[in-house]
Amino acid sequence: MIELQGIPVSPGVAIGPALVLDTEGYRVPNILVPAGEAEGEFTRLYHACKAVGSRLRENQASTSAAAGEDTGNIFAAQLQMLNDPRLHTELRRRIQNDHESAAYAVNRVLQNYAGALRRLANPLLADRAEDVLDIEKQLLFELGAVSRPPLADLTEPTIVLARTLTPSETANLDRDHVQGFCTETGGSGGHTAIVAKGLELPAVVGIGRFIDAVSNGTLIIVDGDRGRVVVDPDEETIASYRKRRKARVSLSERLAELHELPAETADGVRVRLSANIEFPHETKAAVARGADGIGLYRTEFLYLSSEEEPSEEDHYNAYSEVVRAMHGRPVVIRTLDLGADKMGHRPLAENEHNPCLGLRSIRLSLRNLDLFRPQLRAILRAAVHGDIRVMFPLITTIAELRQARMLLNLVAEDLKDADVPFRSDIPVGMMVEVPAAVIMLDMFAKEVDFLSIGTNDLAQYTLAVDRGNEYVADLYQSSDPAVLRLIQSCVKISKSSDVPLSVCGEMSSMPGRALLLLGLGVRSLSVPPSAIPTIKKTIRSVSITRCEEIAKRAMTLEAAREVDMYLLNQIAELVPELVVE
Ligand code: PEP
Ligand code: MG
Repeated sequence: MIELQGIPVSPGVAIGPALVLDTEGYRVPNILVPAGEAEGEFTRLYHACKAVGSRLRENQASTSAAAGEDTGNIFAAQLQMLNDPRLHTELRRRIQNDHESAAYAVNRVLQNYAGALRRLANPLLADRAEDVLDIEKQLLFELGAVSRPPLADLTEPTIVLARTLTPSETANLDRDHVQGFCTETGGSGGHTAIVAKGLELPAVVGIGRFIDAVSNGTLIIVDGDRGRVVVDPDEETIASYRKRRKARVSLSERLAELHELPAETADGVRVRLSANIEFPHETKAAVARGADGIGLYRTEFLYLSSEEEPSEEDHYNAYSEVVRAMHGRPVVIRTLDLGADKMGHRPLAENEHNPCLGLRSIRLSLRNLDLFRPQLRAILRAAVHGDIRVMFPLITTIAELRQARMLLNLVAEDLKDADVPFRSDIPVGMMVEVPAAVIMLDMFAKEVDFLSIGTNDLAQYTLAVDRGNEYVADLYQSSDPAVLRLIQSCVKISKSSDVPLSVCGEMSSMPGRALLLLGLGVRSLSVPPSAIPTIKKTIRSVSITRCEEIAKRAMTLEAAREVDMYLLNQIAELVPELVVE
């Protein structure tokens, strides 16, 4: 039995056999091919190249149609590499003279090419290295030397172990079979973590190197509450985790009984408790748990979870589905927050050394109007079906906000001219996620109908710490006093300017930090559907007066760790039911 510690990102306990995803390149064995069999290897290679070539041509055509010729040409360049006579001469030489199999020769030659390109330390050429490796992977699939990631055809309950999982890979995990996952990299604020929570999939990330030592089928326990992973547990450990899993289930059954009761404090203050969603189907969980609305719909997941770039109709259908499912309750649609760790179908920004400080989110939308316009049109069209509000992410300057608003107006005029049914008087809000927005908030407040603090990014940009990086995970705390002061300042400006404010970062879904937010004056929280029962229980167990006392004390503390210790003690005293041993 081995116990590993990582970062807990999605609560719950999962127990099951491991499925190890080797995402770190392919190990192709060097099996010598006798001279007499070389001809057979040439034929196999020929057919593999033909298959990969025709797929690249298909990709080029479909991508050019969807995203323009420039983007489609990525595949034309790959095709050129695949057909490069020097490549074929080298492959033939290795098969003929060195008696290598076609797969091994492909693996060696293309890995060498990629390595040489990377060593040139030119970011443009480093990107070409990725293209070379892509061709290698496709040829190896065709040659049957490596199998495609086995995630598509799972038949048994499984715990996925991977070096890393992207947000879109996580979004596409087969929920019927994948019980939980753990990764070597990642931090608590990354989007992979957020998707895991949305899927209610117990998960631990940032464990460090370990998967090489685990084989498929080994029993794994994922403790998403405490960030622990147990490999090959003994009977006693399995029994204790089963007990804990049972205790969690009975706690959630008890909390489920609260779903019809309002999120109201013991001294009668009503708090708006909404849900954060990534997919339309999550509205079901949100409604079942009594959400007051959708406080954050992360629409970029429409991009990340589909094979093709969504059309205006895809946007419209998704938003209509969400707003109808919420039966008149408000739905805040956040416009695309692509970039950084959430990449779309086409390279929207290339060679960024610092993608988190680069062309992401509203910046990216404003530079790619063919991406942004269809979304805005769809939002205004879907608004005829209910209470839709639009929110722009990562607003840093007034100019960005004005540009986004102007575009919304232009899109409304187009719809009007074309006689398409729509509503243009929808509330427009912005996310407060960068210190600049907090510093200038009095100005911003004059130009929006509502504000929502994204504490995940606000912590990242205030503390200069990558939210998805395991090496600095201890520094990534929304309870850091610096972040708390910024939140306090936002509440003050929201009150003085009479613009409603909500908090939709992960901080709101942590019971202790939620108490603190209430004490600072926040009256609207948005959390993943899975967290609604616990946060409602927390709200109903305290008075605002007590929360204010807690906030007053917390604001005198010097470090996130002190704040969290203090809040943990308060929760143990005020809502002891939430503490599962
Ligand atoms: C945030 O930054 O707090 C937020 C809610 O947005 P996201 O996590 O999608 O970046
Ligand atoms: Mg954000």
